[in-house]
Amino acid sequence: MTSNDLHEKVSELARRRGIYWPSFEIYGGVAGFYDFGPIGVLVKRSIVDLWSKFFIYLQENIVELETPIINPRVVFKASGHEEHFTDPVVECSSCGRIFRADHLVKELAGVDVEGFKLHEIDEVIKKHNIKCPDCGGEFKPAMSALLLFSTEIGPYKGSLGYLRPEHAQGMFINFAKMLRIVGERLPLGIAQIGKVARNEISPRQALIRLREFTIMEVEFFFDPEKEREEVSANSEKVLSEKLRVVTGDMRLRGIEEPVELTVRELIENKVVKSAWLAYWMGVGNIFIRSLGIPREKIRFFEKLPHERAHYSAQTFDQEVYTSRYGWIEVAGYAYRTTYDLERHAEYSKADLTYFKKYEIPVVKTVEAAYPDPEAVRKVVGESKYPEVMRELSKRSPEELYKELQSRSNIEIAGVILPRECFTIKRNEVKVHGEKIYPHVVEPSFGLERLLHVVLEYAYSERDGKVLLRLPPYIAPYHVAVLPLLAGKKPEYQKMVSIAKNIHRELVGRGFRALYDDEGSIGRRYARIDEIGVPYAITVDHQTLVDGTVTIRYRDTTQQERVKIDSIPERLNSLITSSLSTYLF
Ligand code: AMP
Repeated sequence: MTSNDLHEKVSELARRRGIYWPSFEIYGGVAGFYDFGPIGVLVKRSIVDLWSKFFIYLQENIVELETPIINPRVVFKASGHEEHFTDPVVECSSCGRIFRADHLVKELAGVDVEGFKLHEIDEVIKKHNIKCPDCGGEFKPAMSALLLFSTEIGPYKGSLGYLRPEHAQGMFINFAKMLRIVGERLPLGIAQIGKVARNEISPRQALIRLREFTIMEVEFFFDPEKEREEVSANSEKVLSEKLRVVTGDMRLRGIEEPVELTVRELIENKVVKSAWLAYWMGVGNIFIRSLGIPREKIRFFEKLPHERAHYSAQTFDQEVYTSRYGWIEVAGYAYRTTYDLERHAEYSKADLTYFKKYEIPVVKTVEAAYPDPEAVRKVVGESKYPEVMRELSKRSPEELYKELQSRSNIEIAGVILPRECFTIKRNEVKVHGEKIYPHVVEPSFGLERLLHVVLEYAYSERDGKVLLRLPPYIAPYHVAVLPLLAGKKPEYQKMVSIAKNIHRELVGRGFRALYDDEGSIGRRYARIDEIGVPYAITVDHQTLVDGTVTIRYRDTTQQERVKIDSIPERLNSLITSSLSTYLF
């Protein structure tokens, strides 16, 4: 199978078996939107469940949150998206078609202009004499196009809103609340799964570049002074996970062949600036491997400073190799530092700090200025004296001292008090802690891209028929229950009734089970192989005699006989044992 064949074959399977297809087809379609049919919905949901196991349930410090898709404009002003979340575009002056400038220049001149200033892109276009590929026209100067979708909130003009392009802002805005809910402790991870929207310029790559897609994201808040210790106390399996990494330094030296480093090495060799970021890269590597992607088809690719988002001090893309598009990003790992919390605190005036308690209180000498009543009375006179003293009592002696230091007098209630009106004292105080802005790292996964790579790596053929080798825990159904024959004969009716009972029992026990009695058993096996159902239970003639059924294995087509009573336990052990190698 050539690589392009693989992409075509997966797309054909997706359409034929109701996994996904382009949206709005009866109206001619709109680029960047896809619908997900019965099988697509189930596989997506199982990927979400699996991600939640690795990133929420197996972790000690992560809680979930759900916030709105539509946000008031101020949120994305504060976050910096309104200013920075743009792509460069060029418009043809003769046919008016708009292209994403960096993609166009890469395709037509082979030059990478990611992160270039607009005038630098114009220079490259001029130097390589790039013309409109549609009509040969000249391009107007490059412009920035905002990728945020905008909308009006409520019926009144002027209350502009944006659809979120990521979940992060919902977590930052709620940081202080969430901290209170979990009991004022760090580290604290807040996870969110849901839809986001980005008004991509020219989305042409099926599930890879959508205008509406699902992100699974964690914002992880921690104290940078404690992270090394916290991470090294974590699971050995994650710390010794080997990642294939292409660092920024390597890229600058022209090397794109990854080096293999464990999470521990990434931290000790200071390849990754935050130990927690390295930890999440380790968890992410295990998660992607558990989806059936071989280790050598995954790499972490560090972004160069000019390629990073405005909030990030370091970014690694986790990439998976695909047949048609080569390496594509399935997850981004960004070190967002204190940027977002500080910006939201500045714009909202809310306190978004964490009170860091010292293990032992620290004794500090603090200077303070106390008003001398007699001196004040002399300066302000009897009539003003009570009001001035009242106002002075509202300010702390420490504050008054600081003001005296900077201006050498105090202006209060319309009068000016010189330094002589105050007695300066040095006090010893016990300080129990300080307010800090926690640092933040963020792993962020695109669900639809994961669906795409999962299908590519699961796709295979056997005897000319499609076989989807999905890991059992992400298959749309764990099991299919099939009567060997269905029809009017009493014997067949018994098979149907037993099979339906088994199906009901399995659904009741939490399995995703499918019942099917349409067509020959061979056709039914082929149909479930094609959508990746790993096990099939068949009720046959012998079932009626001794209460046993067959379990057929998708990957080998081998069958074993088991008692009806033992089916749930057998299935459970098959499914959990296939996942257990990845758990930590
Ligand atoms: P980012 O915040 O840009 O790092 O995006 C997080 C993740 O969302 C990426 O790693 C991708 O998996 C996914 N993603 C980003 N943009 C798109 C898109 N236009 N269509 C589908 N998935 C996307």
